[in-house]
Amino acid sequence: MALLFLIIILGASIGSFLTVVIFRTSTQETIIFRHSRCSNCRHRLHPHDLIPMLSYLLRGGKCAYCKTRISGLYPLIELTTTLAFVLAFFISVLVSKDILTQLIIFFCQALLFSVLLVILFRYLNKNRKTMR
Ligand SMILES: [Zn+2]
Repeated sequence: MALLFLIIILGASIGSFLTVVIFRTSTQETIIFRHSRCSNCRHRLHPHDLIPMLSYLLRGGKCAYCKTRISGLYPLIELTTTLAFVLAFFISVLVSKDILTQLIIFFCQALLFSVLLVILFRYLNKNRKTMR
């Protein structure tokens, strides 16, 4: 059970990073060496503003500083990644009894899901322009 909790935390954290990758690569920005900022007021976001899904829910989907509505794609990407990681965890446990094999299967699936999610959401972002 503790392992599943860690998988959920890992999935949400990777999902949060994937939002950075999806958003910044579509605007030609660097994905490292730059703090997260509100796309409207440019206020630097603090760690408590960046808790995957939770910060969005607690702030009612709005920026904590300028109250501008934040795209629902952010928590959607984080939630989708979390669910994909949980699925990958259960598949790896079902496929093998060996811990090392489970770990390798989980890692490969998590990597594949992450790449597919970036491709999918970049496509959606490019065609809908709903993410800022
Ligand atoms: Zn703002």
